[in-house]
Amino acid sequence: MNKNNLGLLDIARKQIKNACEKLNSDSMVYEVLSTPNRVLEVSFLAKMDDGSLKRFTGYRSQHNDLCGPYKGGLRFHPAVCMDEVKALSTWMTFKCGVVGLPYGGSKGGITLDPRDYSKGELERISRAYAKAISPIVGEDLDIPAPDVNTNGEIMVWMLDEHTKVTGKFAPGTYTGKPVEFYGSLARTEATGYGVSSMAIAAAKKMNIDLNSARIGIQGFGNVGSFTAKYMVEKGSKIVAVQDHTGCIYNENGLDIDELTEYNKVNRCIKGFPNSTPVDESIITMDVDILFPCALEKQITKDNAAYVKAKIVCEGANGPTTPEADEILYKNGIVVIPDILANSGGVTVSYFEWVQNLQRVTWSFEEVQSKQSKVMNDAFEEIWNIMNEYTVDMRTATYMKSIKRISQVLELRGI
Ligand code: GLU
Repeated sequence: MNKNNLGLLDIARKQIKNACEKLNSDSMVYEVLSTPNRVLEVSFLAKMDDGSLKRFTGYRSQHNDLCGPYKGGLRFHPAVCMDEVKALSTWMTFKCGVVGLPYGGSKGGITLDPRDYSKGELERISRAYAKAISPIVGEDLDIPAPDVNTNGEIMVWMLDEHTKVTGKFAPGTYTGKPVEFYGSLARTEATGYGVSSMAIAAAKKMNIDLNSARIGIQGFGNVGSFTAKYMVEKGSKIVAVQDHTGCIYNENGLDIDELTEYNKVNRCIKGFPNSTPVDESIITMDVDILFPCALEKQITKDNAAYVKAKIVCEGANGPTTPEADEILYKNGIVVIPDILANSGGVTVSYFEWVQNLQRVTWSFEEVQSKQSKVMNDAFEEIWNIMNEYTVDMRTATYMKSIKRISQVLELRGI
């Protein structure tokens, strides 16, 4: 197990337990939801460009399918391990529950650093993985999608391989595909669009003027870059962005269109013109809204007391530990939890799946307005639970999700 990921599943369990206690749920509910139903570990070979064969390890964790087929992304990262996919699949169940999607939760990945491989090698690795997990994947069984370091192109390779193995063309088996091939308009933007709209909704409740708001974004992949774009549209200034190469700063706001272009070419933000490199971690910077959009466990008991933002909006999955949550709550900082904040990705994955099953295409505006409605309705309900029970927003979000899943549990039985 990778050391950095020790305890991720314990974190997920603690979050579920907190909410079950507040709801006075039957102990059976926690018992059902605290452990994934099935975890597959696969080992497979892929041909490298020099003709040699290399062995890789991948996983697919299927947490719970009470509300429908398993659903969740696939990541390529050196830290991918059993504990991580188990925790991430658990969060997917609750994420789908929060916005009422007819899905359960899953997650998978391959332990590798994609920067170490050529495009051809990545295609062969992706295909071998898709073949290895194909017995437990399907349009009405388990539906993968992009996550950290994966994208639409990779989903098409995997879908193509799955089709060869099964002999049946079912495009809804993978979501997050390119629009040219059974993808949905507004899917690429969906997670960042949702993350920004949840921060906007919270800012409104808290009387924070977005026109003069200072923003910090950790991570500038798909989620971070689209979150930045939509916050700039609201008039906010992105004063700091951090990625794996460091943190850059501009008091007057970074030019996000130019930074997005720069990042595409250089695959990092380091050296971006009109910015100053800074040593300080973005987590503790003087900003109004902080968006952790990178990886897990970024806000911990060691730095939480120094967070200056009024809102922390989690674009990443699991960026805040439970100890940090307590400190932030005591300091009056509103944390919009991952399972709500970044639920836009899976919400539009669901819309893609519906379009695939019906062989229809919806317009960009139709998809985005449907996404807005689903997420803003969930936000309002959660804000009310938060005030009614005097709990933090994460607990309120779990409570909403658990309420729904428990109803299904009661109806279906174990
Ligand atoms: N990887 C995204 C997430 O963590 C999207 C999952 C999906 O679309 O199934 O929510």
